[in-house]
Amino acid sequence: MKIVDVETIVFKYRSRRQHDLAGHSHPAPGHDALQTLTVVVTDEGVNGYCFGGSKEINDRIVKPALLGKNPLDREKIWQMFYRRLQASRGGLNDRQLAIVDMAMWDFAGRYLNQPICKLLGGYREKVWAYASTMCGDEMEEGLNTPEAYGRFAEQLIKQGYTAIKLHTWMPPIEWAPDPKRDVAACRAVREAVGDDVPLMLDCYHGYNREQALYIGRELEKLNFYWFEEPMDEHNIASYVWLADKLDIPVVGPETAEGKIWTRAEWIVREAADIIRGGVGDNGGITPLMKTVHLCEAFGVRLEIHGGGAGNLQVLGAMGIPGEFYERGLFHPNYDYESVTPWLKEVIDPVDRQSHVHISQKPGLGMEIDWDFIEENTVKSNK
Ligand code: MG
Repeated sequence: MKIVDVETIVFKYRSRRQHDLAGHSHPAPGHDALQTLTVVVTDEGVNGYCFGGSKEINDRIVKPALLGKNPLDREKIWQMFYRRLQASRGGLNDRQLAIVDMAMWDFAGRYLNQPICKLLGGYREKVWAYASTMCGDEMEEGLNTPEAYGRFAEQLIKQGYTAIKLHTWMPPIEWAPDPKRDVAACRAVREAVGDDVPLMLDCYHGYNREQALYIGRELEKLNFYWFEEPMDEHNIASYVWLADKLDIPVVGPETAEGKIWTRAEWIVREAADIIRGGVGDNGGITPLMKTVHLCEAFGVRLEIHGGGAGNLQVLGAMGIPGEFYERGLFHPNYDYESVTPWLKEVIDPVDRQSHVHISQKPGLGMEIDWDFIEENTVKSNK
């Protein structure tokens, strides 16, 4: 069994989202956008698929490294790429590795006719989801005031969500960040949804110690459930300082480089109460499962960052909490359910109890709409 090709299909779709200069997504008028699909082609007549990935990096680095390799040797391949990360001068990154690793897991699942969560060791088939909002903005009818957050939270509760996380205002908004305004948004949401709904805050990531402590203490008064990433995650000492002073669980690191080793450091230094990681941050399912087991060994919770098929399959196999799936991002002017027109069904269907059902179909569990992709393919290296 061996890998005989790595293809990157590029296709277009109508997007209603765009990213600001800091990389945060907001609703936008409909426009053409590009999406990629990484395909690991094997000589078994079964392929592995994962949406995303750079064609340039796949062609230049990934494909030459994978040709002839056994696609089931995921650990060996991950170790090879990990060494390569150091020598690639930034040409290869964890998000790209995550796509390649997930495509190989998808192959394994399709080949063995099992969902990945069962190959990892099944633990659950549904998971509690919180609705995660987009960042604050200055749009009319958007998330432009604390009151707007309150009204939107009410709407989300009416839709059936039983937990909500706010992303508040960040640069490039001129007056952002503003700790008092963040707290005002949190207060408006708490007043709108009542005392019992778990609420979380993920605010600007560059607050200083005193600003973060002020927000954290206000969140304690508002009975928030966790406080996520308020400072630069490279500054572990500041997180040790903050977590020591607050009762509310501090959550991190999310996007900090260093995978399992960075998270090990945060755990032993007690820099956070709840560890954070996702397939994109850790470099795939293979390394994220190592973080899962690391947290289990230390009795520390791990909350998964972001949505999508790979994170869901990991949640299906996580024997420690991991209490939540992050569903979103949501905004009053944006239809999240239409976000992946290249799939025949949404990957994270949510029921009226705010539970997302984890696909039990083979691999990543995606029903790919090949007609849509073929009709919209821009360029392929086939
Ligand atoms: Mg976050």
